[in-house]
Amino acid sequence: MKAAASIRTRLSAWYAGAFALLLSVFALAAYAFLEHTTEQRIDEYLAETAGAVAGAMEFERVSGKPFDLILDDVLEEFRLGDIAVAVFDRRSGRLSMLDLGVRRRSTAPRTHAAQQLPDLRTILAQTSPDQPTQFATGLGESGLVRVVALPYRLGAHDLVIGAAQSLYSQETTLREARYALGIGIPLMLLVATAGGSLLARKSLEPVSAIAEQAARIGATSLHERVAVPNPRDELGRLAAVLNDLLERLDRSFEEQRRLMADASHELRTPVAIISGEAELALSRDTRSTTELRDALERVHGESVRLKRIVDDLFLLARAEAGDPIMVPREVYLGEVAADSVRAVRSLAEQKQVTLAFTGVDDLPFRGDEALLRRLFVNLLDNAIKYTPAGGDVTLSAERQNGDYLITVADTGPGIPTDAQPHIFDRFYRSDRDRHASATSGAGLGLAIASWVAQTHGGTVSLEESSNAGSRFAVRLPAPTAT
Ligand code: ADP
Repeated sequence: MKAAASIRTRLSAWYAGAFALLLSVFALAAYAFLEHTTEQRIDEYLAETAGAVAGAMEFERVSGKPFDLILDDVLEEFRLGDIAVAVFDRRSGRLSMLDLGVRRRSTAPRTHAAQQLPDLRTILAQTSPDQPTQFATGLGESGLVRVVALPYRLGAHDLVIGAAQSLYSQETTLREARYALGIGIPLMLLVATAGGSLLARKSLEPVSAIAEQAARIGATSLHERVAVPNPRDELGRLAAVLNDLLERLDRSFEEQRRLMADASHELRTPVAIISGEAELALSRDTRSTTELRDALERVHGESVRLKRIVDDLFLLARAEAGDPIMVPREVYLGEVAADSVRAVRSLAEQKQVTLAFTGVDDLPFRGDEALLRRLFVNLLDNAIKYTPAGGDVTLSAERQNGDYLITVADTGPGIPTDAQPHIFDRFYRSDRDRHASATSGAGLGLAIASWVAQTHGGTVSLEESSNAGSRFAVRLPAPTAT
């Protein structure tokens, strides 16, 4: 995958860059530390030696020896392997040191640094008599030589004690360290970059796998899921989230499919009746006016039903698409409820059902009057439709615990227990009503009622249902007093 590869490259580059920076800083710091400590060690050693020479000369002087003898004795005493000691007399300009020539040939150059340093005399001669130990670095026959100069007054003699050591071995150590770092660091960087790239590829592999699987899933295979590599890590969670999304998509696709099937099924019946009636009416050349009128009445009845289903479907579709259908304004819920009761009065009379309105008719509320009326009419419609002649339907509107409670009660046959959980679903009708009469609705009435209540911040619920009747309750939030 291209995207994964680019993330991998970026990850590896970042990793290598950070590692290179870290390594360089570390190497520079380590090298500087090594250089500093070696230098310091040599300087300390040289200073100590020069101090010891001064101490020895002082000691010899106290014993009363002549100056030249002191010089010879002390120089002999300080015949050291790696340091060359010299004494410079400022007044006479004489530089005294042992002739180390013999050993010089047989040993490493560092042993007799002082002899290799042609400038030793100049360095010692130039030191300031007022300052304590002074250090200088000169160029000897085989590399750098470190020199300490210690001004020292021995009786009447104005001396400078010098001690010199070749920096050859230190230079070698530092050079080796430079080589080691110069080869080691790029090597480590190479290994680390390769390792980092491998690691990045390994850890991004599941992402590519998930992407490939997800890409294969289409509208017709929404039930498929991507594999969850490890549910506890980030990628596992990503896969789980994807699966969750697929689950919801699948469900909503399924719902849409069912809705389409249900809608076409509901529309088919009235359309079939209308076309059947029209065909029948046209099938003979002559028809009596009464026959034609009857046929037209049936066509009209079915087209009204068809129109209602289409209107309801349209409303639900717009609601689902999030269309701003609601036009809220200040209304009195009691009045809207009383109006709804009046609207279904003729239906109740036709069915010989007694219709009553109880409660108050103020109940100020902010909402869409037409939608609220639809909510109450749908409940009343059902109540009247399912209540046999001689029964009662009562709508009551009241305030209860700071909310508005509107109930619609009937003395109908009640709703079968197994149907109760589904009555608010779209297109749902209990089996009893599905087969009972062609005049029953399409099963959208309660779904619309429920949606209207919800958009107004309320609920509709079936409070009670038995063979003595049903009671639906609408709860809407009463405005808080300001
Ligand atoms: P319909 O428009 O078909 O009445 P609804 O969504 O309004 O659809 O109602 C769904 C189902 O709930 C109805 O088919 C019916 O079985 C049941 N129902 C609703 N109200 C009542 C009631 N008052 N008495 C008995 N059954 C009811």
